[in-house]
Amino acid sequence: MVENLMLSNTQNTRTIVITSGKGGVGKTTATANLGMSIARLGYKVALIDADIGLRNLDLLLGLENRILYTAMDILEGQCRLDQALIRDKRWKNLSLLSISKNRQRYNVTRKNMDNLVESIRSLGYQFILIDCPAGIDVGFINAISPSQEAIIITTPEITAIRDADRVAGLLEANGIYNVKLLVNRIRPDMIQRNDMMSVRDVQEMLGIPLLGAIPEDTHVIISTNRGEPLVLKKELSLSGIAFENAARRLIGKQDYFIDLETPYKGVFQKVQEFFLGSEQ
Ligand code: ADP
Ligand code: MG
Repeated sequence: MVENLMLSNTQNTRTIVITSGKGGVGKTTATANLGMSIARLGYKVALIDADIGLRNLDLLLGLENRILYTAMDILEGQCRLDQALIRDKRWKNLSLLSISKNRQRYNVTRKNMDNLVESIRSLGYQFILIDCPAGIDVGFINAISPSQEAIIITTPEITAIRDADRVAGLLEANGIYNVKLLVNRIRPDMIQRNDMMSVRDVQEMLGIPLLGAIPEDTHVIISTNRGEPLVLKKELSLSGIAFENAARRLIGKQDYFIDLETPYKGVFQKVQEFFLGSEQ
């Protein structure tokens, strides 16, 4: 079935796995918000929820009631790809594919993942973001298999950083060299008191280029509960601005230095100083 859907892949698709090693550090939050941001910037984006047991990307996007079919149904010949690829109502250029609803039916192979991603590519998607399961077992291997790029998420805690380092090594061993770092749940007050590592410390420990830094923010929890990504809010929270910033940097439209020159100079400069100190 999947093979039948394969057409020639002419356009350039960036397939990016969002991974961490450690669970609960913000992979799904980042996938939903980066995906939504990139879609709002006008790109055609597909999100793949490769997290089976802890599947919740659908909830964060408010799409949980719309999932009738998953990738497992495609692979079993029960439906077509377009039936399992759920379109967001707010941004129709954003779609979600869940691998499976049910852990018992989870026996996707690397080849299956590669074929699924190839089929999505052939539909003209410019970005495919894969929300990776925690850990480094079969789910991780499947999620990284079709990816050319990775975003590693960590919090500024030593356990998460160690896992991020391990994952960075595994990505490299699997031929993924384009890797960027997103540091989540930053608490500037704790950094100031020397109770938390700074973003720069984390980045230097891992030696991975920084894509962004997201503050600890109660808006994240509210947005999860409402099924409405932070970046959709009319009045952006600091975490919403930080995710938007990271998304723009991912598509090559912004970096820390260009931020200072944008019309939003005030806000971005504030955010940047917040995280990295004013000397940047
Ligand atoms: P993962 O997918 O890596 O397991 P999630 O994205 O599901 O992690 O996040 C785990 C929990 O942490 C969720 O309850 C989420 O709301 C919360 N969380 C993530 N990022 C932040 C943040 N920046 N501020 C506050 N809470 C956060
Ligand atoms: Mg998750």
